[in-house]
Amino acid sequence: MRLVILGGGESGIGTAILGKKKGYDVFVSDFGKIKENYKEVLIINEIAWEEEKHTEDLILNADLVMKSPGIPDKSPVVKRLKEKGVPVLSEIEFAAPFTNATIIGITGSNGKTTTTMLTHHLLKSAGLNVGLGGNIGKSFAWQVADNNYDSYVLELSSFQLDGIVNFKPHIAIITNISPDHLDRYEYKYENYIDSKFRITKNQTEEDYLIYDADDEAITEWFKTHTTKAKLIPFSLTKILSEGAYIKNNKMEISINQEEFTMDTEHIALEGKHNMKNAMAATSVAKLMQIRKSTIRESLSNFQGVEHRLEKVLKIQNVQYINDSKATNVNATFFALDSMNTPTVWIVGGVDKGNDYNELMSLVREKVKAIICLGVDNKKIIDAFGNVVDMMVEVDNMNDAVIMAQRLTEKGDTVLLSPACASFDLFENYEDRGNQFKQAVKNL
Ligand code: ADP
Repeated sequence: MRLVILGGGESGIGTAILGKKKGYDVFVSDFGKIKENYKEVLIINEIAWEEEKHTEDLILNADLVMKSPGIPDKSPVVKRLKEKGVPVLSEIEFAAPFTNATIIGITGSNGKTTTTMLTHHLLKSAGLNVGLGGNIGKSFAWQVADNNYDSYVLELSSFQLDGIVNFKPHIAIITNISPDHLDRYEYKYENYIDSKFRITKNQTEEDYLIYDADDEAITEWFKTHTTKAKLIPFSLTKILSEGAYIKNNKMEISINQEEFTMDTEHIALEGKHNMKNAMAATSVAKLMQIRKSTIRESLSNFQGVEHRLEKVLKIQNVQYINDSKATNVNATFFALDSMNTPTVWIVGGVDKGNDYNELMSLVREKVKAIICLGVDNKKIIDAFGNVVDMMVEVDNMNDAVIMAQRLTEKGDTVLLSPACASFDLFENYEDRGNQFKQAVKNL
């Protein structure tokens, strides 16, 4: 069987290792350059590869193709493969049949990484032999080849879910759905929503789907679709007989006639969105029969993930917060919502079709000044020019932070939550967040 892998990144190399181990004739093809450390792995494992090209003669003869999630369906080589009827799968589809581990799959527009890391933390703290993978950390396929985990917590993007046929998580989470990446979905929101719900399409009555019951897109989907999985909703606003909710500053969970309660003030994560993430992760922990005391302890010591509402420093009683991962309006909505003091907001970058109206009332209430940090700030200026007293444009992070400091008084907060992608001025969101933190440390 010839397995061709398109894309020599983490998921591609992991799939190559697993494929080789399982006896496939493996070939890796990357249109860009393959990183040196991955090349070494391929050479040591005697796996054939090419870079900076796709040689069709070596690709179209595949029995099976694994495509890295970064490669769009529209790319010429993928089109040719589909015309020929060659199955094109994602890493998780290829790898899952080679493990009997319990799979917990987490998708959504925002909150995937935080919920995945927290869920993993809860299960690992309880002593389970659990792997972490998908979009983060080490490739799932690679772990299936090299490790012997009893369960996996996987962060799944819609691109990965697009490439599944039979993949079925025992427990699935959809954290929320708001418009994102629509360029990959013919600019149709419903295609993107359907893609997220693919996570439950193969689930049976034995499986679980945990989801945000306050989410409009999710609630709408359920009006016209069903799933066989047992439903575990969570909500900030409703009291649920089965599922998770917040009442009188307590997180309450009721699943399969078992209850769990915890004061939200003892949960280390902050912000309403993080209460949702905590409800989702704790629901998994309950389903996996983790002891209450372990759950409580883990929720009280999980400090969150870098670049997500990350507290950097307090300088002259001004708190600096790095939320560089907020690359869409919904993420920034929850960041602004969790601000309790007057805020100087650093925003801007590459706009993916943002509707800033959704932020208007929060900006009115909380933001004293806006610092626009993008190449093209027109949409932000048009939206908020008349709403805040002060608005400045800068074109690098140092100036943004120095300007922010000038505009603050004791007790204020400086929030970097760009609501945009970072490619105009930075390499990626991590680079943007790191530059912010460095600039704050230099103050
Ligand atoms: P993802 O992996 O889906 O991008 P992250 O956990 O990395 O999610 O968070 C991305 C951004 O969204 C951060 O700015 C974070 O503060 C924010 N965020 C986290 N959880 C949620 C949620 N449940 N709803 C909305 N925004 C969220």
